[in-house]
Amino acid sequence: MGKVYLVGAGPGAADLLTLRAARILAQADVVFHDALVDEEVLALAPQARQVAVGKRCGRLSTAQHFINKQLVDAARRHACVVRLKGGDPMLFGRAQEEISALAEAGIEVEAVPGISAAFGASASVGISLTRRGLSRSVVFLTPSVGQGEPGHAWADAARGADTVVLYMASRQAEAIVAGLAAAGVPGSRPAVLVENASLPGERILPTTVARLPEAARQLGGGPALILVGDVYAELIAQAPPWRLEDAPRRNAAA
Ligand code: SAH
Repeated sequence: MGKVYLVGAGPGAADLLTLRAARILAQADVVFHDALVDEEVLALAPQARQVAVGKRCGRLSTAQHFINKQLVDAARRHACVVRLKGGDPMLFGRAQEEISALAEAGIEVEAVPGISAAFGASASVGISLTRRGLSRSVVFLTPSVGQGEPGHAWADAARGADTVVLYMASRQAEAIVAGLAAAGVPGSRPAVLVENASLPGERILPTTVARLPEAARQLGGGPALILVGDVYAELIAQAPPWRLEDAPRRNAAA
C-alpha cells in the first residue's frame, strides 16, 4: 500500500514551491494535478505518470468522487502518489473529501503546505495584509459553493474582518458588490484585483468595491483574487483617475 501526499504547488511560479514539495515530486510514481499547476512545477516529476484532474470554474472538470477513487486505486499500485493542488492544499481545495476517502480505504495521507494565492498576491501588490493601524484581521473566503450545496452568508464574514481575500470570486463581481453592500461594506472601500499572481501574465488592478465589476471586465481569464480593505487605499491613490471616483484619498487613510 502506497502513501498519498496532498502537495501545495503554490500560486504559480515554480520557485515558490517548498523544498519538501520538490523532494516528494522527485519521488512520485503518479501525479494527479489541478489545471492551475504550472508546467515548470510538473517538470519536477519527469519520472511520474502525470494525470490532469483539473478544475477551473466553468470548464471541464473531473468529478470529486472520481478523483478520490483514482487516488485510492493509484495508492494500491504505487508507493508514492502525489495529489498536486494550487496554492495550499488545505484552503479551498477539496482536501477533506480526499483525506476522508483515503482514510476510509486505509491509505496513509500527508499534506504538504504551499503558498496560498493570498500570499502570492500580497507579495506582488507589496502591501501587508495586516498593516499596523489599519488591519488586525484577515478573512479568506469564497462566495462559491459546490453543486447542490446551499448558499452561505459569506458577506457576514467579510464585514467582520479588516482585510478580505476573496477566492473564486472575480467572475461574479456584481454579486460580490451586492453582497458586500448588503453587509454594510461601503462602496468606497479600496479593493484590488490580482490576476495570475506570481506568473508571467500577472496583473494588478486597484479599484474600489463599487467599481469591482468594471475592473473585473479587464481581466484576461486567468485565476484572480479580490482583495478588499483600507490597507489598499495607498495603492488606489496612485491609480489612474478613472478608477478613483469613489476612492478615499491617500491622506484620508493615513
Ligand atoms: N488552494 C488554493 C486556492 C484554490 S481555489 C490556494 O491556496 O491558493 C482557486 C482560486 O484561487 C482561483 O479561483 C483564484 O481565486 C485563486 N488563485 C489561484 N492561483 C492564483 C493566482 N496565481 N493569482 C491569483 N489568484 C489565484
